[in-house]
Amino acid sequence: MSNPSILILAGDGIGPEVMAEVKKIINWYGDKRSIKFDVSEDLVGGCAYDKHGTPLHDDTMAKAQEVDAVLLGAVGGPKYDDLDFSVKPERGLLRLRKEMDLYSNLRPAQCFDALADFSSLKRDVVAGLDIVIVRELTSGIYFGEPRGIITEGNERVGINTQRYTESEIARVARSAFELARRRNNKVCSMEKANVMESGILWRQVVTEIHQKEYSDVELSHMYADAGAMQLCRWPKQFDVIVTDNLFGDLLSDAAAMLTGSLGMLPSASLGAPMANGRPKALYEPVHGSAPDIAGQGKANPIACVLSFAMALRYSFDLGDEADRLEKAVEKVLADGVRTADLLGEEGVTPVSTSEMGDKIVEALDASLA
Ligand code: NAD
Repeated sequence: MSNPSILILAGDGIGPEVMAEVKKIINWYGDKRSIKFDVSEDLVGGCAYDKHGTPLHDDTMAKAQEVDAVLLGAVGGPKYDDLDFSVKPERGLLRLRKEMDLYSNLRPAQCFDALADFSSLKRDVVAGLDIVIVRELTSGIYFGEPRGIITEGNERVGINTQRYTESEIARVARSAFELARRRNNKVCSMEKANVMESGILWRQVVTEIHQKEYSDVELSHMYADAGAMQLCRWPKQFDVIVTDNLFGDLLSDAAAMLTGSLGMLPSASLGAPMANGRPKALYEPVHGSAPDIAGQGKANPIACVLSFAMALRYSFDLGDEADRLEKAVEKVLADGVRTADLLGEEGVTPVSTSEMGDKIVEALDASLA
């Protein structure tokens, strides 16, 4: 049987720096665990524009459709700010998401004990937090028609349309229920069924899918505004939250801040299962290309490393190895190793991006002892 395949698209700015640390870890799995991946690399974003005049070449798009998982670093930077909208670096990422039909966006909010004091909330509210927000990514108000700015009488009117089909709701609901079964078996679905018809349909479809296919999973419903409040009040009450594109955008950013630094947040975007049963998948840190620190060895690679841990779990069925990698990150943090974004404690000297990667590899080694 051939090895599982990964396409690495490191991108721009700190993308290649943080991805270099993931490559060390991929090599570690090959050398020390005999888990080998067929890794290929290509360009996305500004670097692809520099070479091909487009942020995502058709050949790269075709490769992304074939592999078991895509790992992306980050795209963008000031050099590309004045480009036409159609060739901006971010268009490369959007094309990947759209053409791979990655409808289910998983954003974990996990607070490592060693970093609990970095949150703006009290330690006991966030320490040990481990939740995932599943955001519908390819439909809803960001895509619905009609949209635009029109003129009515003597004033302008801005229009966006929230639109969800039953099947769009059903597939993201299934994705959340499947995820909950691998975790603590609880899903909370959030919408605004009190004021939006699309919210009423959302609640109906999620309930139907639950009754027919996932009655072993605990399901609750919450209005999204109340959900935002509960996320700040007592986030540990949740396991998996499933919600639409707009509410997911807002709630996952709020949840992200529960955990401290942007340099710590991974994500996965999943689509329909391929012929081999694995979902189409793209894994990437939540952060951008951080031009302010690019090329200085200051970037925290942990978000990218944890994105690879998600790939181990969701694309390669290697949940134990994903646990091993997450525990290695936890150990390094517990040992007080910090990149510059995680400073705050007295007397701590920051390590570089590459030193952080080396420490994680050392902790992986120690996990075998
Ligand atoms: P950003 O996430 O790049 O940076 C925001 C702040 O967080 C900066 O101060 C940065 O130094 C810091 N930061 C981010 N990641 C870090 C890490 N791993 N370690 C340490 N510090 C980190 O967001 P921005 O500044 O708004 O955007 C910069 C560029 O990135 C823009 O061109 C934007 O369009 C692009 N962007 C890309 C993505 C993506 O590729 N998915 C996401 C967001 C922004």
